[in-house]
Amino acid sequence: MIASTNCDVLVVGGGVAGIAAAIAAGRQGAKTILLENKPTIGGVAATGYCLHNYISRFGKQVVFGIPQEIVDRLIELGGAVGHVPYTGFVKAVTPVDGELFRYVVTEMLDEADVQTIVGVLVVGVEMEGNRIACLKVAAKQGILTFCARNYVDASGDGDVSVLAGAKFCKGDLKTGKTQPVSMVLRCYATDNFKIAEELGAVEPAMAKRRDYPDLIPVYFNGTFSKWNDYVLEHKIFPNQDHKVFCNTVWPNHLNVNTSAVTGIDATSSFDISKATVALTKQVHKISEFLKNFVPGFERAYFAPAAGAQVRETRRITGLYEITEQDILEGKKYGDAIGKICFPVDIHDPDTGQAHFHDIGGDGTFDIPFRALVPQGLANVVVAGRCISATQYAHGATRNMAPCMVTGQAAGTAASMATQQNRSIPEINVKELQEVLLNNGVYLEGSYQKSQAS
Ligand SMILES: Cc1cc2nc3c(=O)[nH]c(=O)nc-3n(C[C@H](O)[C@H](O)[C@H](O)COP(=O)(O)OP(=O)(O)OC[C@H]3O[C@@H](n4cnc5c(N)ncnc54)[C@H](O)[C@@H]3O)c2cc1C
Repeated sequence: MIASTNCDVLVVGGGVAGIAAAIAAGRQGAKTILLENKPTIGGVAATGYCLHNYISRFGKQVVFGIPQEIVDRLIELGGAVGHVPYTGFVKAVTPVDGELFRYVVTEMLDEADVQTIVGVLVVGVEMEGNRIACLKVAAKQGILTFCARNYVDASGDGDVSVLAGAKFCKGDLKTGKTQPVSMVLRCYATDNFKIAEELGAVEPAMAKRRDYPDLIPVYFNGTFSKWNDYVLEHKIFPNQDHKVFCNTVWPNHLNVNTSAVTGIDATSSFDISKATVALTKQVHKISEFLKNFVPGFERAYFAPAAGAQVRETRRITGLYEITEQDILEGKKYGDAIGKICFPVDIHDPDTGQAHFHDIGGDGTFDIPFRALVPQGLANVVVAGRCISATQYAHGATRNMAPCMVTGQAAGTAASMATQQNRSIPEINVKELQEVLLNNGVYLEGSYQKSQAS
């Protein structure tokens, strides 16, 4: 029989949220283990995307802390070019190199003394009342037992909370439909100047690298409208004026985000496998189209992501659910643990096409701590895309900067609960805010308000 592994804080999910949570918990002195199902950490960020978003539509930076530290370390290595002004649907973009992202966060987890275990899947829980006593984890050796004082559910799908009996919503409340899954197409040997000219809806975001003499285009979005006839006739995309999002930190490499498969429940291994097959074929067709028709891709070669990438599954029902109204008002809360400034970003569940909706007020809204605390559970805190929000609000909370913000708060809260021998809902939120502020998190406005209340 294999003995159980014990720790203070067990983080499940090695995407951006889990990474930030584990780093935060480890730095607070908690014995922390990070479990990840895939062979490597990083999730979608490790395939190379912009970390949306640090700067509000009025030009104010509101995301700092661990998310900013990652960008600073990437800049040092040439894996990021900072927050770059853009005149499209956001005021600034933060492109990063996926592989260097993976390297930087691996280093940060190591420095925080986090034990990272990859290739393992959490498949069960042992409960003691409303507390998780242990997790059952499928590993190479068989089913292992991991026991912790507190758990961070950063699985994206809310697996841990759901196994522990938490309530949740999935997709649209009536139809259950979720946003499509996609597969980023990483393109090498591209001429990004030409491509930006052909596809860009507005001026591309331009940035300077230390090792390159000129400004380079690092972000642009647009459509394939010029090729509508061919695209529709040859079924490259299902709709005309199909949208495309491109980012990079290099002059001759580009991440192209334009594929979509709809009607998938990504909590089903059957569905996600079906989507991976469909997307593998779809992105091959897209790469042939780009190479033959779109100037700048003539010499390109392609490396699609390894599998289907998931935008939306479950949202765990928390002590508070972030709503559409909160976003329209740019709401502030006394128990804020961070701010969101990326617009609501919904890829239509039927057509796959992306639509953006601005945040009201000052262009930011607060994430209340209560949205990270699942109803009815004493030692679980959620982070990332499965936090408590309506489907509309999830369109904003699911993006990477918000996921890292909730991750840092969740990891800090789990380590505080462990040190103070309290349940997660009982921790003192003002104390949590103090610790977050001391660790570089931006809470201006909301925090002052909470002090006064
Ligand atoms: C195609 C696509 C493009 C996107 N583009 C952008 C963009 O440009 N900018 C942006 O900011 N955001 C973008 N997003 C959104 C954003 O990338 C994700 O919502 C965000 O990365 C989610 O982070 P997370 O850590 O919450 O979850 P995930 O990245 O989903 O990480 C969860 C991790 O948990 C692991 N896991 C799940 N269940 C278990 C289990 N039972 N046991 C062990 N491990 C488990 C998974 O393997 C996974 O690695 C995009 C998303 C997609 C799909």
